[in-house]
Amino acid sequence: MTDTPTDHPSFDWANFAASLSPVEVIEEPVLIKKRSRDFFWYSPVLNAQLKKCFGDLVAVPHTKDEMRHCLQRAYEADVPVTLRGGGTGNYGQAVPLQGGLILETTKMNRILEIGDGYVRAEAGALMADVNAALIAQGWEMAMFPSTQDIATIGGFVAGGSAGIGSIANGALREKGNIMQLKAFSLEAEPQEHVFDAEDALQLHHAWGLNGVITEVTLRTVPHRHWIGCMATFDSYEACYAAGYALATSTQIGRKLASTVEARIVAYFPRLKDHLREGKHLLVSLVPAEDMEALRALIKAQGGHLDLAMSDAERQAAKLPHVFEFAYNHTTLQVLKADRSATYQQIGVPDPADARAVAAVGAALGNDVWQHHEFARVDGKIVAFDLPIIWFTDEARLREIDKTYEAHGHSVADAHTYFVEGGGLKNADYRHLAWKKRMDPKGLLNPGKSRAWEEVKHLPAEEIEAKAKG
Ligand SMILES: Cc1cc2nc3c(=O)[nH]c(=O)nc-3n(C[C@H](O)[C@H](O)[C@H](O)COP(=O)(O)OP(=O)(O)OC[C@H]3O[C@@H](n4cnc5c(N)ncnc54)[C@H](O)[C@@H]3O)c2cc1C
Repeated sequence: MTDTPTDHPSFDWANFAASLSPVEVIEEPVLIKKRSRDFFWYSPVLNAQLKKCFGDLVAVPHTKDEMRHCLQRAYEADVPVTLRGGGTGNYGQAVPLQGGLILETTKMNRILEIGDGYVRAEAGALMADVNAALIAQGWEMAMFPSTQDIATIGGFVAGGSAGIGSIANGALREKGNIMQLKAFSLEAEPQEHVFDAEDALQLHHAWGLNGVITEVTLRTVPHRHWIGCMATFDSYEACYAAGYALATSTQIGRKLASTVEARIVAYFPRLKDHLREGKHLLVSLVPAEDMEALRALIKAQGGHLDLAMSDAERQAAKLPHVFEFAYNHTTLQVLKADRSATYQQIGVPDPADARAVAAVGAALGNDVWQHHEFARVDGKIVAFDLPIIWFTDEARLREIDKTYEAHGHSVADAHTYFVEGGGLKNADYRHLAWKKRMDPKGLLNPGKSRAWEEVKHLPAEEIEAKAKG
């Protein structure tokens, strides 16, 4: 691994940069260092491992031809290539472990087509821009990450998994959500391959290891007039139960239902004058026409609706989007005040069992504060905990994992930079077979797949066969 962008005395980076002309390049070490980071620092474990990993050069292609040119030059010179969109990943996905060229996509950002039920955009299009363009035409993304103001559509498909809207429309990987991906191979003559429908999963969540995504087509849904709602409860168990009731309601449309313990809510100063103090919080997005039903649900669950605002009202009140208090933004709000916080990703075994959720909360100790998200996976409502953890050391972190596991919860480790380590527990041999086809020299984002090291000498068909066997 390299420590600084200038740590390769034998390689002439200035000459390599010149060979990329006319593509825009960034050569200032400070700027290269900035673009070598993502949000891995949420994890003290990853922070220790990755904080000194930097690329050597950044290129910012504006067109596919420029992207192709960069890939050709990198292939010829055996230069590692790490793709970068907005750099909002949490696991160091966009950190160049072995130095090399960072290819930033943010200037390849055109929205190419909006049709009935789909949007096609260049990989570097900003999620917020895509959503705004869709809303103007009566559509919206089926789901988007809470980082939409920085994240790109290509980065979401390559590094993300679900988001605001997943409670109604499932995870990204579910049938119909990713309609098409186009991607370059990293070869002497880079080829653009087209992956339709299910085949797009060969590249989805592969962290840019097996192809350079150039265009993304995602499913969209008709736009609705959403109201951002915040309701408060006396106990976390009641709050969670209300979240589950909302998530499973057949009468209320919703694209977000998140529950947050009161101790975390105390770290949301922007909401101070809007919420009852010391209470547990249910954050949701509900269509205007379903507000009466939501009010009834909250009352029946023993809660109080503290805040309900349309987007225009929210902007007038100068408040952030409600989803900036959900998903991993919850962790961010706490980290703004205290960098010793971190988090973990925990699957709840029976999302209907609020009592069991409260029981594991009690067993965890005072250094773990619960926060749950509800989503739909394969047609069923699931819940996952993204707790705030007050970090002491890794041993305590693993003890917390074990307590969750002893209560039947699953842990998708947020403290590893291996693609096989987090949500994707086992090796994805379809991803790796495509890596062999698209990246025969293994130059794309090297070091992020453990399983690749074991299969890289095999032909693609043999790697793929492992997926079946
Ligand atoms: C506060 C916070 C909240 C978050 N909330 C969510 C959430 O709600 N849902 C969710 O899924 N994630 C979430 N994330 C994670 C992350 O923001 C999303 O996954 C986001 O969509 C990543 O987009 P990006 O453009 O920043 O990608 P980057 O971080 O730049 O890249 C992500 C990965 O994709 C690869 N990549 C980027 N562009 C390409 C390309 N064109 N071709 C091939 N590979 C490419 C990179 O190499 C990297 O491995 C959150 C993160 C933070 C910090």
